[in-house]
Amino acid sequence: MLTKLKRSAGAFFFPLFELLAPFFGLSRVEARRAYIRLNNAMILESCGTFASGRVLVLIPHCLQQSDCRLRLTFALDRCARCGSCPIAALLALRDAYGPDMEIATGGGIARRLVEERRPEIILAVACERDLSSGIRDTRPLPVFGILNDRPQGDCINTLVSVELLESALRRFIIAERLPPLPLFAPAGAALARDL
Ligand code: SF4
Repeated sequence: MLTKLKRSAGAFFFPLFELLAPFFGLSRVEARRAYIRLNNAMILESCGTFASGRVLVLIPHCLQQSDCRLRLTFALDRCARCGSCPIAALLALRDAYGPDMEIATGGGIARRLVEERRPEIILAVACERDLSSGIRDTRPLPVFGILNDRPQGDCINTLVSVELLESALRRFIIAERLPPLPLFAPAGAALARDL
């Protein structure tokens, strides 16, 4: 209950914090990262574990290789798993752990997926801007945020740590449903690593 209040307070004050960030010597991106870290810490502290089917993993379209011609929105299984982008590894995680997994191309689709699937927790991969707004928009549903990497710039051929996502799945899915050994994450990988 106290953590829910803290999460609500964080969401309420975040826009002000973001606005005032330059006065504290922080960029907007750094302010968003700080908010995502705080949110994740509160979720790790307060959330238990869930049936795998009640966990929804939302991933951004920009993880797909830009020259891949397959249309994956609402049809992730069209991926031929060639391994040229992270989608193949993410599907391997989905198959092993059993959560719902979808591409969310915007806040509207994310909201629709939440209404349709009724998850108890979301593990969301996105950039600082989309994660910080998604965490606020889907309250009180807990959203654990995982930042993507953008070696080629925003919104194109982005990457994500599959090890970190797997660690999150192992943290939030009930123990009896977990594969005995991780597919990617080294045993005991620290989930609280600096996001
Ligand atoms: S793994 Fe290959 S087939 Fe699947 S989305 Fe990426 S590039 Fe396309």
